[in-house]
Amino acid sequence: MTSFRTLDSADLANKRVLVRVDLNVPMDHGKVTDATRIERVLPTIREIADKGGKAILLAHFGRPKGVDPKESLKPVAAELARHLHRPVAFAEDCVGEKAATAVAALQPGHVLCLENTRFHKEEEKNDPEFVKQLAANGDIYVNDAFSAAHRAHASTEGLAHALPAYAGRAMQAELEALSKGLDKPKKPVLAIVGGAKVSTKLDLLGNLVKKVDALVIGGGMANTFLHAQGMSVGKSLCEKDLAETAREIMLKAENVGCAIILPVDAIVAWHFEANAPHQTFGVDAIPKDGMILDVGPRSVDRIRRAIEDSSTLVWNGPLGAFEHYPFDHGTVEAARHAAKLTKEKKIVSVAGGGDTVAALNQAKAADAFTYVSTAGGAFLEWMEGKPLPGVEALKAS
Ligand code: AMP
Repeated sequence: MTSFRTLDSADLANKRVLVRVDLNVPMDHGKVTDATRIERVLPTIREIADKGGKAILLAHFGRPKGVDPKESLKPVAAELARHLHRPVAFAEDCVGEKAATAVAALQPGHVLCLENTRFHKEEEKNDPEFVKQLAANGDIYVNDAFSAAHRAHASTEGLAHALPAYAGRAMQAELEALSKGLDKPKKPVLAIVGGAKVSTKLDLLGNLVKKVDALVIGGGMANTFLHAQGMSVGKSLCEKDLAETAREIMLKAENVGCAIILPVDAIVAWHFEANAPHQTFGVDAIPKDGMILDVGPRSVDRIRRAIEDSSTLVWNGPLGAFEHYPFDHGTVEAARHAAKLTKEKKIVSVAGGGDTVAALNQAKAADAFTYVSTAGGAFLEWMEGKPLPGVEALKAS
């Protein structure tokens, strides 16, 4: 990763460092229920403070329409202070007098959190005047929020053009991991794509067939491909109107030498619920009144072998309705096998996307993966091969 600057080359002492972080954590009755995102930004904040910089945090929270106390970052800043084991000052606005006064009072090595950037509609418009107002409080800009990098907003993109810009440590780790996954991977590369629908992952599939050597398609979306091949999928989730699109993807894959691996058997149930009675069928014999809820045992074997044959694995989407036991079986088996091979240093494994993180956690496999991205939208756009404005702006500066 040589295309942009990291904290290694930043002169932080006595500088006002505007740090874009992701503090969009889940909350319930004013309490943070999952502090994963807070944990991820601690190293960058600590490093800036320890090198004598003044860490001034910028973040969005929720989707407020104007100022809304329910979407204030104040309780999140308090939680951040607990994790940081240091005080975190708070300013009730991210621009203007309140922000300027709080910044002026800040000592080297101290941390200040500014209020929700989305309290100003100019944030999402990447308004140049608003960028100027934000930039007035900093000497340096550090972006540590990969998960917001698919948005060209003032605090994620605009600021990188207004101040000397650097990637924070969480951003750096994410970009280095992603580079190993698709940009400069060790070949052969296998992608596993699952999840509910083809329609939400068309761009992703289109990009992957160009880049990977083999592509496992599982989950509900595999049903559309089976249907497109003339098989009957009973009452399974299936986007019949996308049969032609599925055939085009398969043809494109064939033309560029990407092997498509579809299920050969499936676990079929008659109710979409946990512990529903179920049976295994070949994909050419799915009962008319049944629903495919997971990949079958022969498919799992095939997927395990595909993982063994690869040097790099990129994964998005569960292979079955994993929230409903035992239809998590295929996902869990594949995830554990990938985790084992990663631990043995036989493969590099990169996974991401909301449900994927939950599924890998359920399989207790996430920790062993080379990298698991918690960035939902940004990770998917990266898998789709789209440039991420927040990352591109760092490269340009
Ligand atoms: P996505 O958000 O597109 O990654 O989809 C994840 C969702 O797909 C999860 O809620 C799974 O339960 C669901 N899913 C996976 N396989 C199936 C299937 N065979 N039938 C119905 N839903 C499925």
